[in-house]
Amino acid sequence: MTAMREARIRPAAISHNVEVLRSMAQTPHMLIVVKANGYGHGAETAARAALEGGADWLGTADIDEALELRRVGISAPILAWLFGPDENVQPALENGIDLGVSSLAQLEQVVAARGSGTPARIHLKLDTGLGRNGVGPRDWEEFFREIARAEQASQVQVIGMFTHLSGTSAEADAGQGKVFDQGVALAESHGITPEIRHVTSSIGTSDSPALAHDMVRVGAAAYGVPVTERYHGVGLIPAMRVSAQVILTKRVDAGWGVGYGHTYRTDRETTLALVPLGYADGIPRHGSSAGPAVIAGERFVVSGRISMDQLSIDVGDAAIREGQWAVLWGDPAEGDPSANEWAEASGTIAYEIVTRLGARVPRVIAG
Ligand SMILES: *Cc1c(COP(=O)(O)O)cnc(C)c1O
Repeated sequence: MTAMREARIRPAAISHNVEVLRSMAQTPHMLIVVKANGYGHGAETAARAALEGGADWLGTADIDEALELRRVGISAPILAWLFGPDENVQPALENGIDLGVSSLAQLEQVVAARGSGTPARIHLKLDTGLGRNGVGPRDWEEFFREIARAEQASQVQVIGMFTHLSGTSAEADAGQGKVFDQGVALAESHGITPEIRHVTSSIGTSDSPALAHDMVRVGAAAYGVPVTERYHGVGLIPAMRVSAQVILTKRVDAGWGVGYGHTYRTDRETTLALVPLGYADGIPRHGSSAGPAVIAGERFVVSGRISMDQLSIDVGDAAIREGQWAVLWGDPAEGDPSANEWAEASGTIAYEIVTRLGARVPRVIAG
């Protein structure tokens, strides 16, 4: 181990979490979302660990993310749901990647890319009240008519139908669930019979389990990020531990300004510890003078502004030495701060904390 900073990734934790989620969800299928470099954990690592834990589907946002999984030899079903109007989706079809289709234009794009090959495997994305992608109820009639026509012409095969919840409240989610079921019924009246209906992600899987249908689509919880109250106490294990070595310690006088803008000033003679992690590594600058760190079992708070590559910690008279490791977030059960604490300290959500971890932090696979 020579690098001064690292993100230790525990694939076994992801596998364990997926097993926990499977017993929670009780659905015939389970899709684990590995977009955004596996939520910062490494896409291939996350994908293999998810399959190991019993997932039978993988999900990505972009097609390129899905193709990358195929390139490393992962053959499990993959669904990708985000692509641009000028994108060539043919490589996705050739590599057996299912595509989420959110409009008639996207249907045409997929049909054109397929040429005379086998029917393109698609999942119809319905907007049931999130206002992102998906076909809205006003357009369902025409959409389903064209889908049914394309399916009869063997241009597409409808594998699934799905929607995404806003997670605003259980009531709002139930409302979306009702709209989704109406959409499915309408599709069926057009002769469209999707085998897999999927609705809930991490939040819905814990808080609205009745909406799960045939498959859950879970990201955050699989990485051990407890995104709802119900996930506390089910035994999720955080799969990422971000730390860096203290590379410099020094005694300074009382009144010593620390960091850009001197937003922190020592109130006594003290020791400053320098940690080589900054906002370029995804440590949120909004966590300045707020984000936690544990060094040698002792808890501290970042002192002053987080800069691009470094942050300083006033460790007082604690016996902190150069070479010791400062853990920013990891597994609270092992005494580490949590990604949730960093989120609270910087006014965001733990999703953003883990997914924004920068490329400069080497992912070290544990175990
Ligand atoms: C990101 C995403 C998910 C996973 O969400 P989590 O909250 O991380 O579980 C599921 N479905 C869609 C459409 C997504 O974009």
